[in-house]
Amino acid sequence: MEQHFEILIIGGGTAGIMTAAQLLKKDKSLSIGIIEPAQTHYYQPAWTLVGAGTYDYAKTAKPMAEVMPDGVEWIRDYATGFDPEKNIVTTKSSGAFQYDFLVVAPGLVMEPSMIEGLPEALEKGVACSNYIDPEKTWDIIKNFKGGNAVFTQPTTPIKCGGAPQKIAYLAADYFRKHGLEEKTNVIFATPGSVIFGVKPIRETLMKVIDRYHIHFKPFYAPFKIDVDEKIIHFNHTAPEENRCIINEGNELGERMLGETDIQVPFDMLHLAPPQAAPKFIRDSSLVNDTGWLDVDHHSLQHKKHANIFGLGDVAALPTAKTGAAIRKQVPVVVENILLLKAHKEATNHSYNGYSSCPLVTGYGKMVLAEFDYQSNFTPDPKLKRMLVFNSDKEHWRLWMMKKHLLPYLYWNKMLKGKQV
Ligand SMILES: Cc1cc2nc3c(=O)[nH]c(=O)nc-3n(C[C@H](O)[C@H](O)[C@H](O)COP(=O)(O)OP(=O)(O)OC[C@H]3O[C@@H](n4cnc5c(N)ncnc54)[C@H](O)[C@@H]3O)c2cc1C
Repeated sequence: MEQHFEILIIGGGTAGIMTAAQLLKKDKSLSIGIIEPAQTHYYQPAWTLVGAGTYDYAKTAKPMAEVMPDGVEWIRDYATGFDPEKNIVTTKSSGAFQYDFLVVAPGLVMEPSMIEGLPEALEKGVACSNYIDPEKTWDIIKNFKGGNAVFTQPTTPIKCGGAPQKIAYLAADYFRKHGLEEKTNVIFATPGSVIFGVKPIRETLMKVIDRYHIHFKPFYAPFKIDVDEKIIHFNHTAPEENRCIINEGNELGERMLGETDIQVPFDMLHLAPPQAAPKFIRDSSLVNDTGWLDVDHHSLQHKKHANIFGLGDVAALPTAKTGAAIRKQVPVVVENILLLKAHKEATNHSYNGYSSCPLVTGYGKMVLAEFDYQSNFTPDPKLKRMLVFNSDKEHWRLWMMKKHLLPYLYWNKMLKGKQV
């Protein structure tokens, strides 16, 4: 006989812990199980600062046992599969568990092998990534002696879409402060067509790019790394649009092979690896065509199974995958589960795609992009209390918020189920 929980949660990351904590705040008698194999919980948003040498990596980690809410049963194991008809989740070594309601929140996984040569480049230290080892990024930045510093991101969805450019700005600022600007080309290459989808933020970021003389390369989709030669290959995703910008032998040493293969030599390379939903999710019947958890965009309820909800990085939501988005998703999931449990309809459809991206643009500078599904700029009115009246512009107070206030709120309020 399987062990039964009223609410079973897969994943003890940002989404899983916040959901359990808020549920228990509403009703501490609920029986909740969390399946989570990791011993450590990370505050990933600070990894950008770790990569720039301005935050201690050790402070981004806490033992999982410390963040598990009191009253939750922690199942120290991997979820491996689903039987949604029977309300069952299987695990690697603890057997199967039955639920009334299931919350799927196992985040996403890095898939470096989707770029040829990337696994080897990371292993040999030829490439670095704040998504994998931010301390290594800092090692590479502080030992950089000049040349091409290439920053890029893949064509898959990634968590915190702004993170690949944040570290480019911080590195450019660092190189400038250390007299390397003249002998360095900072290149930011992205498969996208613009630097950021939200207009006022984009306008500020284009000024930041100009200030640092960053070579901004839209339509560049990385597909291969030549580890020995230190060359990264990009597919030009809109070749007809701006091929004229690629001049053979330009100051970056860029070369074009055939119709779309652009080769850029590098002396340092930072990238966000390609990312995907965990394999046991992709292999399940719960995903959409693109392999992400198929939930309603506004209620976060699974499209086929009314007693399953999904949120966080794993969810197929057309907005940026961030902890900030999760902060707005959790109350919707919590309310809908409690409504269903009381034999009512899951009527909370209020999630509007809110996400936010704290774009650090240099040491002591930050712009706060807050937006919804339509890419409207939606700054939080509470910012005015911090005397920030224009968060689409660079601000020292926003940097202080990123470095000090947000980590404090995360560990002490959000993970404890308090609304902030
Ligand atoms: C470099 C970087 C910078 C970022 N910057 C920001 C930022 O500035 N602002 C912001 O809001 N967000 C930022 N983020 C994104 C943010 O950290 C994530 O969006 C958020 O942590 C996602 O939460 P989650 O619960 O979905 O996944 P996670 O927090 O990753 O947790 C998933 C959990 O599921 C567990 N799990 C995995 N597989 C299984 C399984 N089979 N069974 C059971 N459990 C499993 C994992 O062990 C993990 O504990 C950043 C992320 C990175 C990497």
